Amino acid sequence: MVKVDVKYTKLFINNEFVDAVSKKTFPTINPQDETVIAQVAEGDKADVDKAVAAAKKAFHRYSTWRTMDASQRGLLMLKLADLIESQARYLAELETLDCGKPVKEAEFEVYYAVTVLRYYAGKADKILGSTIPADGEVLSFTLKEPVGVCAQIIPWNYPIPMMSWKIAPALAAGCTLIVKPAEQTPLTALAVAALVKEAGFPPGVINVIPGYGPTAGAALTHHPNVDKVAFTGSTEVGRIILGAASTVNLKRVTLELGGKSPLVVFNDADVEKAAQIAHAAAFANAGQCCCAGTRTYVQSGIYDQFVQKAAEIAKKRSVGNPFDDVQQGPQIDKDMYTRVLEYIEAGKASGAKCIAGGEKMGNKGFYIKPTVFADVKDDMKIAREEIFGPVQSIFKFDTFEEVIDRANDSNYGLGAGVVTNDITTALTFAKQIRSGSVWINTYDHVTSQTPFGGFKDSGLGRELGEEGINQYLECKTVTLSLPKVPQL
Ligand code: NAP
Ligand code: MG
Repeated sequence: MVKVDVKYTKLFINNEFVDAVSKKTFPTINPQDETVIAQVAEGDKADVDKAVAAAKKAFHRYSTWRTMDASQRGLLMLKLADLIESQARYLAELETLDCGKPVKEAEFEVYYAVTVLRYYAGKADKILGSTIPADGEVLSFTLKEPVGVCAQIIPWNYPIPMMSWKIAPALAAGCTLIVKPAEQTPLTALAVAALVKEAGFPPGVINVIPGYGPTAGAALTHHPNVDKVAFTGSTEVGRIILGAASTVNLKRVTLELGGKSPLVVFNDADVEKAAQIAHAAAFANAGQCCCAGTRTYVQSGIYDQFVQKAAEIAKKRSVGNPFDDVQQGPQIDKDMYTRVLEYIEAGKASGAKCIAGGEKMGNKGFYIKPTVFADVKDDMKIAREEIFGPVQSIFKFDTFEEVIDRANDSNYGLGAGVVTNDITTALTFAKQIRSGSVWINTYDHVTSQTPFGGFKDSGLGRELGEEGINQYLECKTVTLSLPKVPQL
């Protein structure tokens, strides 16, 4: 077992690591073997009050942060990116310990988060309003100003990337933040907090409050001095947050929620390549991915070949100790592990054909075999609900018209994929599918420059790219009365 030093377990408020007011702690668990890694300070309402007060003070119009040149904000972000990069291996090992993803992938994710910070660092001094040819004897222009104090609630599936998606645009915009990492994965957010201080951010600009959703999370979403909530997680909690955000004030809200994303393979596709794309779409991060392409629709001409290939690839997927060179580690926790196994049983009971996996692996830790169901019907539970585990469902279709309707028949609309060599088919699909991202002959290619988010119950607003920073800006219109000009 790799030994990873856990250095930070307290709340981070005003650039200091402090105990919870209640002195309470909660355990963070290693999903590989169910042991306790560390006790972490448990934030609650009293701690949220302290963190929000710190963030509000840091947002004062005369504060160091608000009066700093925008280019300087960008430089601080670049410094943070450099520090994170310099500790990439350590942060990756800490992440693997806490959430069980293969360490190679965790390391890739740290570098990915660095690209997000650098992308938005470059934007800090390029936030532009416009001049407007308004009617009347006036000069009108717009100012883009930071929204204010932001609560950012992070999920456990991609802790460091999700933190970067949230903190980077908010910092570039000039906001101040309180981050609540998921209860399952608080450790890397706290390690990044230590680097925030080292980079030289003024106190109160970035605060980190580990704790539980219904306590610390709810205190943030109900707080009168929080101006915006950004959340990634389940649609169910997204609804609760949307409600909470309108109770004491009207918070701006960005939601990145769940999905049941379709990936459609047409007859002209190379079966081997298509099966590989579909496999990666469904099984990346042990299926714990909001935009996982879990509904694989395959055209009838290549259906049988494809099904055989999909089973072959899934059976070869290496599952095991995430510190080894494997493709898949354990699921995040006992609840999710149990839930995924229940979905697998529901799939079998409903008559879908289980052609790979279909059961847990070993007796210690939350390991599940990569599972493939063929001949899945649209009304089955496994076809409609988000499983969030290593389960792929394969459906047969005949025509484009049929498959586009079936693919769109979901409350979700996060991602979608199409595999074909016919450009007209690909682009018609891209135009007619109701989802925030469409990938053609690839899947889940998400970069700092490209907006990401959902249609329908998959969310509100977008993260990343130009759209991402707009979610942290208010638009102010300034109109100046000009002297009346003489008539010539
Ligand atoms: P979740 O409950 O939605 O958790 C996401 C975050 O929200 C966590 O930080 C959580 O705190 C917090 N939270 C929970 N209740 C809250 C409340 N009332 N007010 C404010 N914050 C609250 O997700 P989960 O339970 O970890 O996973 C369940 C399902 O969510 C998954 O099966 C999957 O469908 C979906 N999910 C989606 C994504 C995504 O990327 N879109 C990511 C993770 C999960 P705690 O730490 O206490 O839970
Ligand atoms: Mg953990």
